[in-house]
Amino acid sequence: MTDVFDVVVIGAGPAGYPAAIRAAQNGLKVACIDAWKNRDGSAAFGGTCLNAGCIPSKALLESSELYERCRTELAVHGIQAAGMTLDLAAMQKRRAGIVRTMTGGVAALLKAAGATALHGSARLLPGRRVEVTAADGSRSELAARHVVLASGSSPSELKGLPVDHRYIIDSWDALELTSVPRTLVVIGAGIIGLELGSVWRRLGAKVVVLEALEHFLAIADQQLALEALRHFKKQGLDIRLGATVTAATVADGAVSLQYRDQGGAANSLRTDQVIVAVGRRPFTANLFAADCGLGLDERGFIQVDAQCRTRVEGVWAVGDCVRGPMLAHKGKEEGIAVADRITARYAHVNYDLIPSVIYTAPEIAWVGKTEEQLKADGTVYKSGVFPFAASGRARAMQAAVGFVKILAAQGSDSILGVHIIGPMAGELIAEATLAMEFQASTEDLQRTIHAHPTLAEALHEAALAVDKRAIDNINR
Ligand code: FAD
Ligand code: NAD
Repeated sequence: MTDVFDVVVIGAGPAGYPAAIRAAQNGLKVACIDAWKNRDGSAAFGGTCLNAGCIPSKALLESSELYERCRTELAVHGIQAAGMTLDLAAMQKRRAGIVRTMTGGVAALLKAAGATALHGSARLLPGRRVEVTAADGSRSELAARHVVLASGSSPSELKGLPVDHRYIIDSWDALELTSVPRTLVVIGAGIIGLELGSVWRRLGAKVVVLEALEHFLAIADQQLALEALRHFKKQGLDIRLGATVTAATVADGAVSLQYRDQGGAANSLRTDQVIVAVGRRPFTANLFAADCGLGLDERGFIQVDAQCRTRVEGVWAVGDCVRGPMLAHKGKEEGIAVADRITARYAHVNYDLIPSVIYTAPEIAWVGKTEEQLKADGTVYKSGVFPFAASGRARAMQAAVGFVKILAAQGSDSILGVHIIGPMAGELIAEATLAMEFQASTEDLQRTIHAHPTLAEALHEAALAVDKRAIDNINR
């Protein structure tokens, strides 16, 4: 007999499992199916984010930063710690333990919400029927009033550079290395390239980052990007812009890479390992039958409207498999919104205010428009910058680098963009996002009392600087 559900969610990543939980909270009968298989063959919920993305990368970023700070900063604090060594196996064990706990947590959350969680590969058939193939090959069929597709994304590959998972590796492989490569080339100076390049550089690898574009971090405010580039170069990341990789050969336990530099000249590099980090593409293989009416756009994303409805009545799609930034929090909000829409509740995702964070040191975060975008739009704006060098808390933390930059409308004073590079930027951006969500002006931020000494005072001072009234900075 076919099991009938109000909602079947395909994919239990950060877009899918929140959709399932919210639908269950709304009193609906829900199933959530996920096909994730770890390298040891075990099944897990949580998708890319928990198993091979956000969480394991942040675990390694934290450990490797601590290692680097202990090596380079302890003496400044007056702490002598001779004989410090790296135990990569223990570091990786910690990373794996965090992942295990968090993915187990997703299973527990689904269960507690009353949703049926299934491991297996799901395929949408016409008439909102869903065929589920379990690990042992057995098949079953579910029927649903609504289906939410949350199948995520997978790493893009480069022509002529097939990932062999040993010498030419992807981001998941790069999170699970058991030894530090002597030399490492990262292809792509995007978010993954910078985060993982930083991890392995801090742990001792000599890292070269090859980026095809001539502008560094083209998606970010360029004042922020230039400051970031300066710090990364100083740390020893060898970032080569305008470098297009053309071919690779693996021989004698190393990779030979050919690339063209900015001027078009041919170059080559020999390295122990290569991480291919050139973006991700939507994953929709075997997700739906050809005759079920769904469409993909020219880049392979499932076509949806602004509210995540596909062309098929009762079928929705959220997260990395649809347009918009490939970020866990974007997928989560879409998943929750769809579950509320299915229950005829109000839902809204503000695509203009999705914060971005790059968890390097210094950390980078922003929300809203960049200065380049405002110029291109012809918006008349004013800006205020406050350096962390003038922040007492940042000084006390031995982390007085970077700045907060606020962009605001010249007339209305409403905040249009906030760009932060410096300590805990990823946490600080939440205040800016909330302020912008409430359509705050810089005057609202100026009049909000910030505890002293905190890093958040830098936001307060940057807001004052917009009106050239900063207190704690000479260069107001
Ligand atoms: P996914 O997390 O990819 O989950 C999709 C799930 O669907 C998977 O478990 C998959 O197995 C399952 N699935 C697919 N097809 C089927 C099927 N037919 N049947 C059953 N199940 C199926 N984002 C951030 O916001 N912050 C970060 O710090 C961050 N760091 C990252 C670091 C790395 C190294 C990587 C690779 C990504 C990172 N991301 C980060 C991006 C983030 O991981 C994704 O945006 C997010 O996971 C997308 O969520 P999703 O639910 O749409 O898809
Ligand atoms: P990305 O799009 O951020 O960066 C890929 C980079 O590779 C680009 O700069 C691109 O110009 C470059 N590139 C492409 N082809 C190249 C070539 N042939 N040679 C050299 N460079 C080339 O993609 P990513 O870093 O792979 O990350 C994928 C997705 O995962 C992103 O959308 C990102 O949002 C998400 N992610 C987010 C976080 C975070 O939020 N902290 C962390 C990791 C990943």
